[in-house]
Amino acid sequence: MTGESTRAVHGPPPREVRQHPLVPPVYRTATFVFDSAEEAEEVFAGRQQGWSYSRTDNPTAQAFADAVAALEDPTLAAVGQPFASGMAAISSTLIALCSSGSHVVAPQEVYGGTWSLLTRQLARFGVTTSFVDATDLEAVAAAVRPETAVLWGEVLANPSMTVADLPGLAQIAHDAGIPFVVDATFASPVVCRPLEHGVDLVVHSATKYLGGHADVTGGVVVGAAALVDRVRTARVDLGGALAPDEAFLLTRGLATLPLRMRRQCETASTVAAALAKHPRVARVDHPSLPTHRDHQLAQSLFAPGLFGAVVTVTPHGGREAGLALVNGIGIIQRATSLGGTVSKAVHVPTTTHVSMDAGSLAAAGIDPAAVRVSIGLEDAQDLIEDLTQALDVFS
Ligand SMILES: *Cc1c(COP(=O)(O)O)cnc(C)c1O
Repeated sequence: MTGESTRAVHGPPPREVRQHPLVPPVYRTATFVFDSAEEAEEVFAGRQQGWSYSRTDNPTAQAFADAVAALEDPTLAAVGQPFASGMAAISSTLIALCSSGSHVVAPQEVYGGTWSLLTRQLARFGVTTSFVDATDLEAVAAAVRPETAVLWGEVLANPSMTVADLPGLAQIAHDAGIPFVVDATFASPVVCRPLEHGVDLVVHSATKYLGGHADVTGGVVVGAAALVDRVRTARVDLGGALAPDEAFLLTRGLATLPLRMRRQCETASTVAAALAKHPRVARVDHPSLPTHRDHQLAQSLFAPGLFGAVVTVTPHGGREAGLALVNGIGIIQRATSLGGTVSKAVHVPTTTHVSMDAGSLAAAGIDPAAVRVSIGLEDAQDLIEDLTQALDVFS
């Protein structure tokens, strides 16, 4: 008979479950028990499949990454790795692919967190970056050097919704013998499957559309096993493991991703078309509009009729008009991020792009009035009325 404390810690063994649960369970455990010392040796050596420690691998986290890989690659050849956030995925990827002295080519419109990682962190370790106009393929090719280790891209850029010429950029990377990595967060695999257009690694902030409910932070990387294994090693060393509870919510979100994404994209196209006609609006950025510079490119790369669910609205009247639009909305919430059920809006120059001065904003084509609207699951007509009444208030 063991003592009370020992019985409290060990408990009786769990009851056997012979059936597969319909929903995979949350393996909320930091570590796993081996049948023998020899089994531990085999698993640690990688000679036998098994789980040892949840920072290295966890079944619930891996199930999420596997599910994203199946969406990105219907042939099921690609593999995925789960991360604690989009930035954990991006930092592990860049650290896996770069060494001191490496050079990166990235779009000048790159996501602010990626820009900060490259310029504030990796630069201190001898990694340099050229930020280029990624719509100018000659400029991209000219920026590639012998020491360039990665060509970075974004399927849809923030907030212009510029579409990356994936086949053209992939060609440049492969001519140089380097991997082409894209951040596909704004698109999701429902809108675009970059691996089918020559991309080597796809990175997502799962916090956005994949999770889809604005209640969890996560990330994922998908691609061929040889590259993804290198990224996994960086994740294990850096520690950006996805927690099992978060992974459970992300996998639950994935089940409705096609339904949500299609609806959000369709609503975004409807809202974009309505606002483009509004007299107080100077410009609307959404690739569904024939006036968007990448309308045709989007049609060649994206699922039919889907153009993403972020709409950037620039009212006439400069900064004050942009702030008034954000202050005037009622259904749409004043919040950053995207991809959730609730629509959100931010004034771009004072929030997501606040680190850019007036000159760099102008160079990037961002108007002082620009407002980024992330379309959620509300009725299109209610969102149009919300934005219209907010526009009408400013005069
Ligand atoms: C949000 C976002 C990220 C960062 O993701 P986190 O989950 O916040 O770390 C990276 N890229 C893009 C395009 C994003 O929108």
